[in-house]
Amino acid sequence: MKSAVPRALRNARRSIPRASPTKSLSSSSLSSLRLGNNRLTNTATFLSPHRNFSVTTRRLQDFDEDKDRKWSTPLAKQLAAAIELTGPIPLASFMRMCLTSDIGGYYTGAIEKDRDQFGLKGDFVTSPEISQVFGELIGVWFLTEWLAQGRQSTGVELIEVGPGRGTLMDDMLRTIQSFPVMANSIDAIYMVEASPELRLAQKNLLCGEDAPMTESKVGYHSVCKYSALPIVWTETIKSIPIDSEKMPFIVAHEFFDALPIHAFELVSVPASKSSPPSSTDNSSPSTQTATPTLEWREMMVSPTPPGSTHESLNTPSTQSRETPPPDFQLTRSTTSTRHSLYLPDSSPRFRALKSTVGAGALLEACPDASLYASDFAARIGGSPQHPKSKPSGAALILDYGPGDGTIPTNSLRGISKHRRVSPFAEPGLTDLSVDVDFAGIAESATRASEGVEVHGPIAQGNFLELMGIKERAGVLAKKAKQQKGEEAGEKVERAWKRLVDRGPGGMGKVYQALAILPENDGRRRPVGFGGDVVQ
Ligand code: SAH
Repeated sequence: MKSAVPRALRNARRSIPRASPTKSLSSSSLSSLRLGNNRLTNTATFLSPHRNFSVTTRRLQDFDEDKDRKWSTPLAKQLAAAIELTGPIPLASFMRMCLTSDIGGYYTGAIEKDRDQFGLKGDFVTSPEISQVFGELIGVWFLTEWLAQGRQSTGVELIEVGPGRGTLMDDMLRTIQSFPVMANSIDAIYMVEASPELRLAQKNLLCGEDAPMTESKVGYHSVCKYSALPIVWTETIKSIPIDSEKMPFIVAHEFFDALPIHAFELVSVPASKSSPPSSTDNSSPSTQTATPTLEWREMMVSPTPPGSTHESLNTPSTQSRETPPPDFQLTRSTTSTRHSLYLPDSSPRFRALKSTVGAGALLEACPDASLYASDFAARIGGSPQHPKSKPSGAALILDYGPGDGTIPTNSLRGISKHRRVSPFAEPGLTDLSVDVDFAGIAESATRASEGVEVHGPIAQGNFLELMGIKERAGVLAKKAKQQKGEEAGEKVERAWKRLVDRGPGGMGKVYQALAILPENDGRRRPVGFGGDVVQ
């Protein structure tokens, strides 16, 4: 592996933040988060798709009377007004609004202009921001795939979803430049980014502050400072054309944990009450039986009672009480919803919960994660809509979540200024993050394309060590020591060790890597997942 690490990489150049927790905090806070503000409230919520006018009018009056309530953010006020009209909303709708809505979403403009999400002054720190070695090794990983798949001389595409400050892509590109034959095979770089501010930060880093950015029907365009490659920014992966001649190399780091989830609980319902989502139930007593049935109920978001405090809401001790009291809370719908009728039925893993766990089973489902995984798979392996005679390319997904196939439950976290906070406090100012269902991603990918296979998930620490992090960081640390002194060298050492730390809550253990590759009957394992470099 050592031989695959490029020699001409430059020295550590970023100051390495140490004191700040990573986006996903320690495992001790994780386990006690389990119920967090996610706990069920006793106020069961009715979802009435057929609400009549008088009910709506009454609710509007209530809202009017409640107009003096001080919501913690403008987005909270908008959400409350919308819920007043429509009834409680699915957790996924709440998350989507909080993270990417253009009326003050976390990634789309809510936080102050002079502050960004990343780093010591922001809310969290991610691996590419901790050490340049992270992005370099990911660049090397794609290089090894390019070598193993026959060194295609044109048509290579680099695609990153959720690129943050652009640091990972910058480190990858710099690394790939050391291998001119691969660098010359790249046609274009695509960046899928919802945030206009981060899009600009990425452009400034990858193209230079003075480089112009133009807009087209597809997205935004500029030219990369490395090899003058075109870079295209889109808001969703669907906007990137699918071409069967291309070899897409796709990377997603801490992207899937920001995708909205639906949460459900399995409840035991007396047979007479088991129902389609209707506010009227005309079944006659003669059709009722005594045997209860199991049905999924969706967790919905509704406002907390006016005048709530952290005390009255029992904000758990793992969450900081320095925020204003949460504006919203989770309640369990008393009837089926559109989503509860099909999402828990969409996977054999979910369906099995009825018999393996029974009433009380919880599950989180992320339709957007399935869409992205299916899209990656179709680009690499082809699909009925986009046939590909020779599968090619690779996707590498690195994120926070269980590596053992467990279905995530109660995983919604709120993060602000390096603290764990209620996910329902200060909507739009609080980052939201959930556990990624890697087994679900694998299932979606293989279902979407017969031309792919999946490797992993494997713990980040194992992946990075197999990729040669120790050797590469050792070279950097030595250089830093020689050029900038002992302390600079030690910083480099501390940074890479943090990325592979397998202690409680350590990044090497709680982050996983998963690869989607062209189908090969499992004959060639990729580097970092137990395979060797193929030249
Ligand atoms: N990969 C980076 C950033 C992680 S933060 C790193 O590791 O440092 C999540 C990133 O995904 C941000 O760039 C955010 O703006 C983007 N993002 C979040 N939700 C998105 C969505 N639904 N569509 C597109 N981009 C999204």
